[in-house]
Parts: sequence; C-alpha cells; structure tokens
Amino acid sequence: MKRDIKKAVEQNYDIIIIGGGFYGVMLAYESSCRGLKTLLLEKNDFGSATSFNSLRIVHGGLRYLQSLDLHRFKESVGERKWFLKNFPTLTKPISCLMPLYNKGLQRNSIMWAALNLNDLLSINRNKSVNDENNLLNGKVISSEKVKEIFPHVNTNELKGGAIWNDGAMDDSQIVLFEILKTASENGCTPLNYFAVKDVVTENDVVKGVVAIDNETNESYEFKSSLVINSTGPWSRELAKNLHKDFENLFKYSIAWNILFDVDALSDHALAITPPKDNAKAYFLRPWKGKLFAGTTHQAWDGVEEIPIPTDESIQNFIDDLNLSIPTLNLTKDNIVQIYSGLLPAKEQGTNEIAVREIIIDHSEHNGPKGLFSLSGVKLTTSRLVAEKVLNKFLGDKSAKLKEIEFPQKSDEEFGVFDFDWSIEDESLKSIIKQKIENESIVHLDDLLLRRTTLGDNPSKALLNAEEICELFGWNKDKTESEIERLKNYYVKRGLVIKENQGVEV
Ligand SMILES: Cc1cc2nc3c(=O)[nH]c(=O)nc-3n(C[C@H](O)[C@H](O)[C@H](O)COP(=O)(O)OP(=O)(O)OC[C@H]3O[C@@H](n4cnc5c(N)ncnc54)[C@H](O)[C@@H]3O)c2cc1C
Repeated sequence: MKRDIKKAVEQNYDIIIIGGGFYGVMLAYESSCRGLKTLLLEKNDFGSATSFNSLRIVHGGLRYLQSLDLHRFKESVGERKWFLKNFPTLTKPISCLMPLYNKGLQRNSIMWAALNLNDLLSINRNKSVNDENNLLNGKVISSEKVKEIFPHVNTNELKGGAIWNDGAMDDSQIVLFEILKTASENGCTPLNYFAVKDVVTENDVVKGVVAIDNETNESYEFKSSLVINSTGPWSRELAKNLHKDFENLFKYSIAWNILFDVDALSDHALAITPPKDNAKAYFLRPWKGKLFAGTTHQAWDGVEEIPIPTDESIQNFIDDLNLSIPTLNLTKDNIVQIYSGLLPAKEQGTNEIAVREIIIDHSEHNGPKGLFSLSGVKLTTSRLVAEKVLNKFLGDKSAKLKEIEFPQKSDEEFGVFDFDWSIEDESLKSIIKQKIENESIVHLDDLLLRRTTLGDNPSKALLNAEEICELFGWNKDKTESEIERLKNYYVKRGLVIKENQGVEV
C-alpha cells in the first residue's frame, strides 16, 4: 500500500470516498467486494480521529432492549458476529458484570428477564463463529460471586450481579487498517494526508474532487462521478464546502474514555453507576492489564481537530469513579491518555447520542448529482451502514460480486505487541521495517499508533522513538521533528511527560 499519487490522478474511479475512519474504510471494503475501482482520501492518517478513540467494544444489543429498539438490537448483534467471525484473534468475547443494588431497572429480577430476552433474541449470535469466540448466555449471580470477580466492589446494599458477554476489539486501529489493506488489494487506492477541498461538477453532475496533499501543499484533481463524504464530525463542514450545510447530518457532542496507569480492577468489564441522583453507568474495562474507563458524553459546540474535555469535566469523571468504588483513589496523575472524540447527538446542545445513521443524497436538495454525505453512530455497525449506502446509491452496480476474506496472521504480524514491548526484540524490528516499506507510513505516529500497538504505551514509545526513527533512515532534523510531533500528540491527550521519558520536558 503505497502513496502513489501520480497513478491516482490518471485513473477514472467508480467511487471516491472522503474520510478514512471506520465508516470510510468500510465503504472502501464494501466497494471492493463489488469490484469497484475506489479512491479513499484521508486528510490525516487512516483511523486517526474518532475511530482511534473508541472504548473498543463491539456492542451487541443489550442496551437497546431498554428502549425496545429491536431493529438496532438485531443490526448490532449481526455486526458483532461479523467482527468476531472475520477477525477471530483481534476481536474476542468479553464478560461484563453489573453489580446490582436493587435501584431502578438494576434489580436481580429485571436483569434476569433482560438477559434471557437478550439471549433469546440473539439465538444465532454464534452461528459460523469459531468456538472460542462464542458468546455464552447471560446470568444473574450472587453478591458473594460478585465480590470474587470484582474485589473492590462497593458492598453496601449489594444484592447480586448481572453477567453478559459482548465483543472486545482491543486493537481496533489494527482491524481498521487490515480492512483497508484488504480493500487496497482488491481495487481501492487509499491516500492518507489528502484533504478534499472542493467538488468538480459539469452541468450539475459530479466529475471528481479537488484535494490538497497536506505533506506538500500541492493541489490535485481526482476523477469520479460518485463522491461520498464520510468525514464523521467534519461531514457538515465538508458538505457546506462542497454544496451546503445540513444541520441534521451531525449535531455535536463530545465523548471520552480515560486510560489510567492503574491495574485493571477485574478480568470482566464492569458497568458501574455512581450512587447519586440521575447518574449514568460507566464502563470500566480491562485493557492491556490497565483500567480503561468511560464513556462520558457531554454537549459540544462544533468540530475541532482534537476535542478534549475540560479539566473540570475530567475531575468530575474521576470523582464519580471514586464515589462508585471508594477504595479506588484515582487522581489526575494516574492518567495515561484521554481518548476523546465527537459523536452525533440527538439534538444540538445535549449529550444524548443519535440513534441512527444519516445519509443524504445532495441531488435531492438541489445539489450536484453523484454527491452523498453520511454520518454514523457506532463503529460496530459501520460495515452495515456502508452496505446500505452502496445499495441505495449504486443502482445496478450494487450487487456484491464476492465476500473478500481477511488474512489470518499472528499478533506480531498484525503489529500487535505486548504493552511492555522491547526494542531489543529482533522480530519487532523486522516487522517495523516491513511496515515502513509497505504500509503508507508518512510519520512516526502512523507507525507507532496505527500500524502497530507500540504507541499504546506512551512512555515506551517516547523512550525508543529515536532508535525507531533510525529504522526509517531519517536525518537528525527529521528525527527531532517527528519525535516532537509524537510528544505533542501525547501531551495534548493528557500525558504528563516525565524527565526519564527520553525527551526533554
Ligand atoms: C469516546 C468514544 C468511545 C466510543 N466507543 C465505541 C465503542 O466502544 N464501540 C463502538 O462501536 N463505537 C464507539 N464509538 C463510536 C465510534 O468510534 C464512531 O462511530 C466511529 O469511529 C466513527 O467513524 P467515522 O469514520 O464516522 O469518523 P472518524 O473516525 O472521525 O473519521 C472521519 C475521518 O474523516 C477525515 N476527514 C475530515 N475532513 C476531511 C477532508 N476534507 N478530506 C479528507 N478527509 C477528511 C478525518 O481526518 C477523519 O479521519 C466511540 C466514540 C467515542 C468518541
């Protein structure tokens, strides 16, 4: 997968996709299953925005039963199965535990009924999925058993616990990239660091797009009569540049998770509600042996490159966690990284998340023929939304020619390494070199954060950054600027750089 700009300019594409997050990448994959010649343009690196910041849970539909949204339930269960089946080593079952205190709906009897309904309605969830990825039935357990699984549980008025299974995709950035690589082997040209600025039209029909190479500032024109704006939080801004703004496309809210430098509290993901009025449940999941907690939602005003919650909101979140688990004693000093992004809200100025994707055909609103915009809600259902979009807009080209399978590899070949990795590992170095050669890597952070999992551990990444830059063959100036870029990224995301982290404070 190389950044072959010259070749891309010469082609006439069946479809141009703008935005390389989960939604754009799934569109690229689904297009390649239809034998379409596809160009994907991403203004930064693939999967570097919202898609990098998720809690990495592939949701089944338990939460949608509460609102009796059976349509969404069915879609989520189906897509969870798709991930568990196609990425059997990168998506795994995760057991979830909700301690029950007989408050509201969180009662033993209600949860027992909900879990049974969940299992019944998802009876086919394990069909054609490897045995080790099968999701077991849910159950209600005793308080004693809850304490065994989650020793720090607040035992005051504890009445039992509800257990169910879901999907965990711990290294979702690697999955995203594998899907993109597979698409690129089957007719898709992905170009990172290309920002689309305009659409080219003739007699109100789309002929292509104008995009700037963010690395050189040069402008290029790419040809296609079908253009899909799949830029997530930027979809409104881009729709406005290409045609006009659609308020419904994306009403802004911020969501975030925090990775703490604290041992995971259990091998189960924990659904915890702070003991206060109108509190919502948090999810505290084990991730690489650490505590990864979220997801908090807040109202937000508009699009931003790196949206970060305020200090006050972060402190409130930490206070809520400490209130829920009195022995936890978390402070801001325990933060490794803040994973935050913008999600579509039901209404502007609220934190309630939209329920369905929005798909707009601009030609139905006096815009050019062949221009479409979309925004989606969950990465879990991004493939299904891609399929819906193509079915809707491709007409007789929408029939799938094939189901393209994904290669199965070892963790290391995927780029998945231990949290506590070592640069002395020769196979690690040889995998890095292959990736530098073949995987459209422009910057150090592309390699560390999105082609491998090495950057999940910021202090290791910073300590070894110089040695890794040597593998690129970069000179001193380039090495310094790349390390500075990586450091800035981490600092922006909440890391406090200490002096022993190889880089000057
Ligand atoms: C904190 C948090 C937790 C979450 N947890 C989960 C979870 O556990 N499970 C789940 O299923 N979902 C979860 N989600 C939701 C999921 O992450 C999103 O639904 C998904 O990532 C959205 O993907 P996207 O492709 O629409 O957007 P993005 O990933 O933001 O991709 C859009 C891309 O468009 C690019 N772009 C913008 N403008 C241009 C332009 N002019 N030219 C070219 N490219 C452009 C951007 O650089 C960006 O890379 C979570 C989200 C957040 C924020």
